[in-house]
Amino acid sequence: MGDASKSTSGGRLRHFWDRLSIRWKINGLIVATAVAGGAVGVLDATTGHHVWPLSVGLTAVGAAGILLAQRWVVRPFDSVFDYLSRFEQVDEHERRDLVRSFDVQREDEIGRLARMARQIMTDHTRGRMESDRLRRTIDDRVARATRVATSKLHRQSRRDPMTDLENRRHLDERLEPLVAKLRDERQDLFCVLIDMDNFKQINDTCGHQVGDEMIVLLGQMIRAAVRRDDIAVRLGGDEFVVLMPRCSKDRVVVGVVEQIRHLYRQQIETMLPHSAIDLSIGVASLLRDRPETGRQLLEMADQNLYEAKRNGKGQIVGIA
Ligand code: GH3
Ligand code: MG
Repeated sequence: MGDASKSTSGGRLRHFWDRLSIRWKINGLIVATAVAGGAVGVLDATTGHHVWPLSVGLTAVGAAGILLAQRWVVRPFDSVFDYLSRFEQVDEHERRDLVRSFDVQREDEIGRLARMARQIMTDHTRGRMESDRLRRTIDDRVARATRVATSKLHRQSRRDPMTDLENRRHLDERLEPLVAKLRDERQDLFCVLIDMDNFKQINDTCGHQVGDEMIVLLGQMIRAAVRRDDIAVRLGGDEFVVLMPRCSKDRVVVGVVEQIRHLYRQQIETMLPHSAIDLSIGVASLLRDRPETGRQLLEMADQNLYEAKRNGKGQIVGIA
């Protein structure tokens, strides 16, 4: 209704009537009927025309009709309206209970209206449940994919792409905790540093690509020789380190160092016959050399490697 019509007294009355609930409209009609009946009675008494039985009868019939209408129309309509209002206010869980408890017996227009309302409420609840389930599934999949991608990224960032061994970052993360743990357990840890001799010569003689292949091959030889618990790392260039926890000296010498050297020399012999190119290896031990830290253990192995180079290369220092 427009604002202009609200400003007149008729418009204001109409606006008031539109906003009045059906219950109060009917209550108003009951009052109006009673007042009209009373007025007819007063008129009857003052004018001498004896029409009061008619007036009382009409009033009674009108009031009875209104009361029945209230019982048959207004109350059932109110209960449907009440259900819909509660449906709007409660959470998803309570909505399901509300829809289940919404029992409709009537077959008339109000019954049909109530069934339609129940169907809409049921569809809405089911739709919400399905969209919730879908959202949860999508959230789960996104979380799983993120976890997989993150751990893949983590693994990749700690791997040397050329040899697929671990890289220096991985060594930096593992070394100190490993040394601390093994020292507590009074177990040994061997640190084996391996460097190719005269690798520049291989690069110069056979080309950089063959040099790359040699690095990859040495990586494979190291991986084949170590155990599951060992940590094999390419430090960079032609330099590798193997950490061997809870290991005997014999296993280090025979199982790893000599085996790798033997395979490497065989490979070199096929590529550069009679060149006598070898590996230099420096070893340090946690129990024997007693370093304070993992870094010191690595430095001790490095000093031994330096010693091997200084003494003419192609030898192992630190394991006698
Ligand atoms: P030494 O006997 O004293 O160990 O000398 P070396 O010739 O082996 O040289 P050094 O260990 O001092 O340096 C390693 C060389 O390896 C330096 C560089 O030219 C070469 N290099 C480093 N990274 C790569 C790589 O990824 N591929 C190839 N082909 N060569 C590399
Ligand atoms: Mg070298």
